[in-house]
Amino acid sequence: MTHRPFAAWPPDDLIHALTDRGVRPGQARSAVRTLAAAFHRDGRPWPDVLALAPKTVAPHLAQLCLPDRPLTLAEDHAAADGTRKLVFCTFDALRIEAVLIPADSGRRTTLCVSSQAGCGRACPFCETGRSGLQRNLGADEIVAQLRGAWALWQACRGTRPPIGNLVFMGMGEPLDNLAEVLDAIAVVTHDLAWGLSARRVTVSTVGVVSQLPAFFAGTRAELALSLHAADDAKRGRLVPANRRWGVAALKQALQEHLPPGRDVFVEVALFAGVNDGPEDADALLVWLQGLPVRVNLLPANPGPDPTLVAPDADTVRRFQKRLLDAGIRAMVRHPHGRDVGGACGQLAGKRLGDPA
Ligand code: SF4
Repeated sequence: MTHRPFAAWPPDDLIHALTDRGVRPGQARSAVRTLAAAFHRDGRPWPDVLALAPKTVAPHLAQLCLPDRPLTLAEDHAAADGTRKLVFCTFDALRIEAVLIPADSGRRTTLCVSSQAGCGRACPFCETGRSGLQRNLGADEIVAQLRGAWALWQACRGTRPPIGNLVFMGMGEPLDNLAEVLDAIAVVTHDLAWGLSARRVTVSTVGVVSQLPAFFAGTRAELALSLHAADDAKRGRLVPANRRWGVAALKQALQEHLPPGRDVFVEVALFAGVNDGPEDADALLVWLQGLPVRVNLLPANPGPDPTLVAPDADTVRRFQKRLLDAGIRAMVRHPHGRDVGGACGQLAGKRLGDPA
């Protein structure tokens, strides 16, 4: 039998677990609806929430649901552009980070969450990669980042649009922790919990090919593939995982497993003199042929390797134009929260001002 914190239970799974124990389906659904509303959006602690359950259901919930693992907000850094980097402390004293990003258009706030404490993929431009993997986060700890951010958002709700986008682009490689990530997505997209649209949830990966079939089968959330270069030698320098799954294997996996009607974001972080030339754009165009994609170009943020820096704006524009001229949807994404170390590749789990 499965026992897990309430926050980690996809509502449908918990309803099934209750009905397996003899609770009537309507009563199980009603109880989960009541408890989920109190727990997720109202932010009430689990013992208080459990007290709301009908007497016939509460003993089953008490057995199925383990006590919550607390996630404590340790730091909240506001950047000049309105981005907020949130540092949470786990029950075992690990530091993980999430980033609240105000919408450029003013329509939706985006929350970037971590899926692991640290990361084992060691991309040289990324602060998280320097620390190595500490451990996977549970689905409850992923959902708890949304709970914590939601509480902060409520405190300033008059001035900010609600959190409507969730991106797994914080610490960790989500496909290395796929089961917990899929459960977290099932919670945040369920009407009884957070009710986010799956199309508003994006999971970023370096391309763990062995997990792509399970990802596409398990969720309708968007996939963002951190390609960065379409040439194995160049990509291997930027993404060590490329030694295991080269660009040809990545493309083949997408061709074989991407469900009909879905597309993927292809992320290209641009580094001056490394992957920003016309020949790099042309290699990318060849790789993209036949794939339903949208390309995001991300001028690099300052990271741990001082030789990996962003190109100038003209170079970025030329790269984008080459893609646009070939009919590829390509957007330049500008960084958020750089001044508080909250932009892509900058999440280190350290205190600001700590030595590198
Ligand atoms: S870029 Fe992503 S996969 Fe690479 S080390 Fe950083 S967190 Fe891990």
